[in-house]
Amino acid sequence: MKIIDLLNSEKFSLSFEVFPPKTESNYESVKHATEEIAKLSPSFMSVTYGAGGGTSRYTLDIAKNIKERYGVPSLAHLTCVSSTRETVRERINDIRSAGIQNVMALRGDIPVELEGADRSTWDYKHAVELVRELRECDGDLCIGGACYPEIHPESRNQREDIRFLKEKVDAGCSFLTTQMFFDNNLLYNFLYKIREAGITVPIIPGVMPITNGNQVERAIKLSGSFMPQRFKTIVDRFGSDPAAMKQAGIAYATDQIIDLFANGITNVHVYSMNKPDVAAAILGNLSDILR
Ligand code: FAD
Repeated sequence: MKIIDLLNSEKFSLSFEVFPPKTESNYESVKHATEEIAKLSPSFMSVTYGAGGGTSRYTLDIAKNIKERYGVPSLAHLTCVSSTRETVRERINDIRSAGIQNVMALRGDIPVELEGADRSTWDYKHAVELVRELRECDGDLCIGGACYPEIHPESRNQREDIRFLKEKVDAGCSFLTTQMFFDNNLLYNFLYKIREAGITVPIIPGVMPITNGNQVERAIKLSGSFMPQRFKTIVDRFGSDPAAMKQAGIAYATDQIIDLFANGITNVHVYSMNKPDVAAAILGNLSDILR
């Protein structure tokens, strides 16, 4: 099933993101966690791709397993920046052979050792080139792209970021998923601006439940997201009590999702970080809304 067809539904739904294991020894435990999440019947599940493609096989194995064993549509992520054209084409063929219909086309973060390198010789400099490649290889794929309500950290300003985003969508993205954010007003402002810029594809807001105090710093460092005072106060008060922080983080994410639903969003993507208990708790909190 293509994600774009799910997004056209009026029904409220949640999708979940999982990540593949970094090593073979973790494969079974990660697979088990992703299966527990799949059993919750989300609208779809996305499986991330290790930067540089180190865990590419696992991404596909997990995406295929979720789809075939649990009937949950899967979205396989693919990055391009540190790969050759040949490798990317191989990956695209693998995705098609696995029967995956949805691909998240990403540039990927620039590896530290390549920062400052001459980029003119790279096969891929931006995600837009991967979107074009995917479209060329298989016109029937449902392609997603990433977007940044608080602008991408490398962008000079939001106007430029949105101009490049429009180029990426025009190259063939059917939908966009956002970077995590903790203040819904940032998303609403962003939606207004991108609609004004002529980007009309569905936007899937990404919400990250912060369930332990240590996660906060890492999440902000990775995403550059603004942390509202209301959330900082929660972390200050409950960050050192794991059970309380988990409950508060789930409640905060639930609250964000309810507000998004109330304001016209129908599918929210939850960065569930391979945590079936967190995914189940959020679904439980929303059971009557999602019914
Ligand atoms: P791009 O769309 O290429 O944008 C990157 C920067 O380049 C932006 O500043 C943009 O404005 C600029 N730009 C774009 N096009 C042009 C152009 N033509 N000329 C000049 N500048 C341009 N990383 C992983 O490694 N694996 C994952 O599975 C993964 N999943 C993600 C899922 C989501 C929903 C999000 C939001 C991010 C994800 N990431 C993942 C992180 C992502 O790879 C990084 O944020 C990366 O730095 C940018 O990727 P992108 O696809 O948005 O890049």
